[in-house]
Amino acid sequence: MKALVWTGPNQSEIREIEKPVPGDDEILLKVTATGVCGTDLTIYKGYFPPERSVPPMALGHEMSGIVTETGRGVKGFSAGDRVIVDPLISCGSCYNCAKGLRHICKTLALIGVDINGSFAEYVKVKASKLHRIPDGLSFEEAALFEPLAVTVHAVRRSRLLAGDTVLIVGGGPIGILLAMTAEIAGARTVIVSEIQESRLKLLREYGFTAVNPLENGNSEIIAEYFEGIGPEIVFEATGTPQGWQASIDLACYRGRIIEVGVPKGKQEIDLRKGNFGELEIIGSRVYEPVDIKTALKYLSDRRYDWNKLIRTFPLAKGPEVLAELGSGKTDIMKAIFTLRD
Ligand SMILES: [Zn+2]
Ligand SMILES: [Zn+2]
Repeated sequence: MKALVWTGPNQSEIREIEKPVPGDDEILLKVTATGVCGTDLTIYKGYFPPERSVPPMALGHEMSGIVTETGRGVKGFSAGDRVIVDPLISCGSCYNCAKGLRHICKTLALIGVDINGSFAEYVKVKASKLHRIPDGLSFEEAALFEPLAVTVHAVRRSRLLAGDTVLIVGGGPIGILLAMTAEIAGARTVIVSEIQESRLKLLREYGFTAVNPLENGNSEIIAEYFEGIGPEIVFEATGTPQGWQASIDLACYRGRIIEVGVPKGKQEIDLRKGNFGELEIIGSRVYEPVDIKTALKYLSDRRYDWNKLIRTFPLAKGPEVLAELGSGKTDIMKAIFTLRD
């Protein structure tokens, strides 16, 4: 079968790889759409832990598709079903798994990060990891379930209540989905801080207030949008020291900062306000199965036009698309590869 294979830092190519054979409790998925995640780009550029992602491999963990084969022990799914796949692989026996927190398993792995993923024609997955795609959603829209589940989980971790004020630092794919999720959850104010012009423009098209921190100072943002005291909840979605410093400096006293972006290594940050202002810092990693259910519900409710986020490309264009996204010089918000007959 054909696959888009990552072959080393900043290199990928279309190659023939072996088609997987599903085991008893597995199904063979024919991939129809698969999103490109920030994690895929981190791996592509060679910044991901080398003991986890080893080239050559097919990346991709945000997949939708059609069940084509089922193992002998599979019940409840059959060939032709339209599904998305929860890509997390947990051990089931560590302390965190025993507590029911399989998404923070000590040895958490992902399809497409630690083993071959969905930048390929077929993937084999455990039937227990499948969710049906609601009627009326396209495969491309359904592939957004994964980043959307990340934001649903982050909003749950934030303990956001109706009427809370929210700042999102970073307006990339996760930042924009955080803004939508926070709004659906009942936030009174949602402001997004972002420096890239094309992202600011898209955020405003969706009706969000988006500020550029290079043009608007912290005190200006607090005075204008947060009644002079700062946001109650800040989602940090950049993973950069600048993003972290802004999150701390802007949050109101007793505010909560949710760590959604994966920090890019060690950082130097002034944390004094954490003490003076009794700030809370809350980590948020991937999602639990219930977050996927919620994400699929939000997608089919269509409060937002999901297609405005997406640019689709045939998988064969993969090497060029990854190179463009990896360079950072792009106005693509969310790239999705499609595999059509
Ligand atoms: Zn992802
Ligand atoms: Zn575990």
